[in-house]
Amino acid sequence: MDWGRTGLTMAEESSQYIGPIVLLGPPGAGKGTQSKRIAEYCGIPQISTGEILRENVQQRTELGRLAKDVMARGELVPDKLVCDMVAGRLQKPDCHRGFILDGFPRTEAQALWLDQFFDNSKLSKCLPIVIRIDVDYNTLTRRLTGRRTCPTCGRIYNIHSRPPQVDTLCDVDGSKLVIRDDDRDEVIFERLAAYDRQTKPVAEYYAAKGRLIAVNGDQSVDQVTSQLFRVIESRAATVADRN
Ligand code: AMP
Repeated sequence: MDWGRTGLTMAEESSQYIGPIVLLGPPGAGKGTQSKRIAEYCGIPQISTGEILRENVQQRTELGRLAKDVMARGELVPDKLVCDMVAGRLQKPDCHRGFILDGFPRTEAQALWLDQFFDNSKLSKCLPIVIRIDVDYNTLTRRLTGRRTCPTCGRIYNIHSRPPQVDTLCDVDGSKLVIRDDDRDEVIFERLAAYDRQTKPVAEYYAAKGRLIAVNGDQSVDQVTSQLFRVIESRAATVADRN
């Protein structure tokens, strides 16, 4: 799918350097859906800290054991655990042309850590592009309560706005869709509160440095995707000009 674009996708131009992309926004803003599209279009990995943590919980690793109860309450996992996990993931060879951080950084301490990490590593030719998807509060709660996920392929649906074709089954592989544990009503409220308390300052941190780009997430999914592609393409062009 090219979401209205013509010509080669950035993934097909496989020598093109994309650089790090940080996608900010409250739970339900569409970070997961949009990150997957960017990953496909640009040919770079989506690094979702929430997904990696859920995998760890499922596989009962030490990290999963430490994170499980915190996640079930909708609170944030301690910075040190998440930063170590991200550092490990960023060392993998698939990150060399760029990557999308989805759900990280989520505290100011994580944002400071990330800047330091880029300063000390050879991983990146440029600072991350930081994009925040803004969505109205009522839309967020409606999206979160309606969200259903395919446990097999990770595709995300919404029973209100983007339902599967058949009942509660995934269009791609027919798996029965599930409600994430932390998409229950009482946990949703805590997750949105944690965003206000801990993650809004992250956006302020980047805004103060003149590095925050806000995108209107109240439009259709495809319109948001087009906006994101435009922002990413213009940064990739700037990096290419510099080299
Ligand atoms: P998400 O899938 O991004 O909504 O994340 C699900 C849950 O994982 C969050 O509610 C947190 O408990 C935990 N989590 C994900 N990313 C982070 C992070 N960067 N820092 C701390 N906790 C996180």
